[in-house]
Amino acid sequence: MTDKRHKRVMEFIEAFRVKPGSKVTLAKDFDPSFKAGVKKKKEGVALLAEGVRLLTEYQARLAAQDDYGVLLVLQALDAAGKDGTIRHVMSGVNPQGVSVHSFKVPSSEELDHDFLWRYQRRLPGRGEIGIFNRSHYEEVLVVRVHPENLDRQKLPTAARKDVWQRRYRQINDWERYLTDNGFRVVKVFLNLSKEEQRIRFLRRVDLPDHNWKFSTADVKERERWDDYQKAFSNMLSHTSTEWAPWYVIPADRKWFARLGAGAVLVNALMDLNPQFPKVDKAQRERLLEVKRTLEAQAPEGAAPDPFEEKQRAAEAAASDGRNGHSADAQVVVPPDASTTE
Ligand code: ATP
Ligand code: MG
Repeated sequence: MTDKRHKRVMEFIEAFRVKPGSKVTLAKDFDPSFKAGVKKKKEGVALLAEGVRLLTEYQARLAAQDDYGVLLVLQALDAAGKDGTIRHVMSGVNPQGVSVHSFKVPSSEELDHDFLWRYQRRLPGRGEIGIFNRSHYEEVLVVRVHPENLDRQKLPTAARKDVWQRRYRQINDWERYLTDNGFRVVKVFLNLSKEEQRIRFLRRVDLPDHNWKFSTADVKERERWDDYQKAFSNMLSHTSTEWAPWYVIPADRKWFARLGAGAVLVNALMDLNPQFPKVDKAQRERLLEVKRTLEAQAPEGAAPDPFEEKQRAAEAAASDGRNGHSADAQVVVPPDASTTE
């Protein structure tokens, strides 16, 4: 059942979803500075805090249920904020249940295999959230913009025929296979404007503590801006599927990019709705037997079950609150996406 909170999250992210089968022209279809009705940074930050809290809760349940896994794919141009998004969105989750992998220029061993090999090896297990910081989509992005990368992959001539169309199909098939086997593929593209990238590069040059983040290669890639926009548009048009749709998140405001990416991930977990496993009647009876044994071991003067006592006291306080003695905390959810500024 879709609860109210889930419905609000779904409505919030709907504007970012690439409709499967639609033809995308990035510059025309998606505005990097769109705020989807969240007027102020302060409001966005509060919403993200609520999203982080939800993620914590759902991740614990995902790990406990241990049958689904989630793969978050993050793609973006340089300086769009992938690192910061991961840092903020994942700030509340248990590190034991998460893996992050950054994909760089492939090694010679990686080049010696089929193009999906290195990504397959880094997939999350059941109960885990895996993050790909750059991903298999580089194979139709940087490799397409710089075809010399394809030459290094040593494909037989026959496999190079219509290679990009083939790769879209192979990626879609691979993601479908993963989805069918219980691994949800969640895809986020952080959409940055050319002007905002220029400003962020300058910031990295101007601030000495940020110099290490800057690479002259990034400026070289910027010269190919239009080619990348085309490659991203093609990728979005061909690989947004019913089982693994793309979400294009406006990234000119860092706080919004984090909120949007967080909401997309929360939505996927809400869809899966994992639960803490329940024990059956016989197991429960055995647990009660153990409880009685432990209670009988209480030292003189100690409560037989101090935990149960604390729980009862907390329940009584909560019921007092419900009767008007104290205000319940408001649950913050994103505003209606249709209330755009
Ligand atoms: P940051 O700059 O924030 O540390 P990054 O993801 O840009 O993060 P870099 O080490 O700067 O990391 O860049 C990684 C590089 O690897 C990118 O230029 C990317 O295009 C390149 N790359 C990733 N996958 C492939 C691939 N399959 N073929 C060729 N190049 C790739
Ligand atoms: Mg870089």
